[in-house]
Amino acid sequence: MNLLSVLLNTVLGVVILFNTASQAAKLPNGFRRPVDKSLVSPAWFDGYHDYQSHVEYIHALSAKHPSLSRIFTAGKDGPGINPAVVFFGTMHAREWVSTMVTEYIAYSLLEGYDTDRDIEHALDSFDFYIFPIVNPDGFVFTQTKDRLWRKNRQVNADKGRGASCVGRDLNRNWASAWGKSGGASDKPCRPTFRGFRPLDAPETRALAVELEAIREEQGIRLFIDWHAFGQLVMHPRGHTCAPSQQPSPHSPTRWVASELASSMRAVHGAEYGAGSACELLYPTSGDSADYAFDVLRVEYAYTVELRPGIGKGKGGRGGKRRSGGSAAGFALPEKEIRMAAEEAWGGVRHVLRLIHAY
Ligand SMILES: [Zn+2]
Repeated sequence: MNLLSVLLNTVLGVVILFNTASQAAKLPNGFRRPVDKSLVSPAWFDGYHDYQSHVEYIHALSAKHPSLSRIFTAGKDGPGINPAVVFFGTMHAREWVSTMVTEYIAYSLLEGYDTDRDIEHALDSFDFYIFPIVNPDGFVFTQTKDRLWRKNRQVNADKGRGASCVGRDLNRNWASAWGKSGGASDKPCRPTFRGFRPLDAPETRALAVELEAIREEQGIRLFIDWHAFGQLVMHPRGHTCAPSQQPSPHSPTRWVASELASSMRAVHGAEYGAGSACELLYPTSGDSADYAFDVLRVEYAYTVELRPGIGKGKGGRGGKRRSGGSAAGFALPEKEIRMAAEEAWGGVRHVLRLIHAY
């Protein structure tokens, strides 16, 4: 065991504070109360919570396990030692279940360490970087103004190009196939606006700096960006449907994707499909999993769409989910949070065993 076995972060906002003086960034500074360790219980996963409560939860979780974890700020704190496992949640602001799922994984790892050999083994082998809310400003906005907001809340200061509209789609802003036509929008008013340049959002820039440093020092073994919805495990490459650009049918990348999907399905019987984003949904350029795969050279890099399935979201059309439309699918009922979290955790447990062995 080493002291860096689990690294947790919800305070990306501290980084943003220096760049944009954002609303969410101010919240961690208001964190003055003693941590309430009673937050760390299964009941946390019975409902959704506001941003400040999530900050408190992560502090409480880390305080309960000080030898295993610490709070971590992307772009500021240095890397660890072991090969890394990186999980992102809430890159798209409205996808609240992804916040809960990443917290559940952190909770399960920390609470299980003393009693579960598999978990002990995983924490001794890997350093986990878990970022439950990588889009804090957008997340706060979904809780105060617009439940279906997707992007960050960055002001588009570049006048004359739709500058009155706010926000970049953080999952079209990464420096991999950025701006490739058909996979994102170049119009600031669109929900899939890619930004004016790759990594020109403070969130993606800070995370990219962090991921580069981690890759350099430790290597990244597994990367999962948790989203909602559709019940899909998507491997790279999302920006093209060309068969020559997809991992071969027998590649480890594709194999672990299908193992992740089947092990998630095994928990509660919910169907999870596996394939590339382009095959399963629509082309996505500048997304995080392609960046992890092609720039950071992470062999196991995925985007997972959590519950509900595509058919459940009212915004679907022609069998495909629309990235910008209003959809009941983003408001997963609270009673399903635990099931979504257990599925994700079941998949992660299984995949950690696989990638450790191979
Ligand atoms: Zn998403």
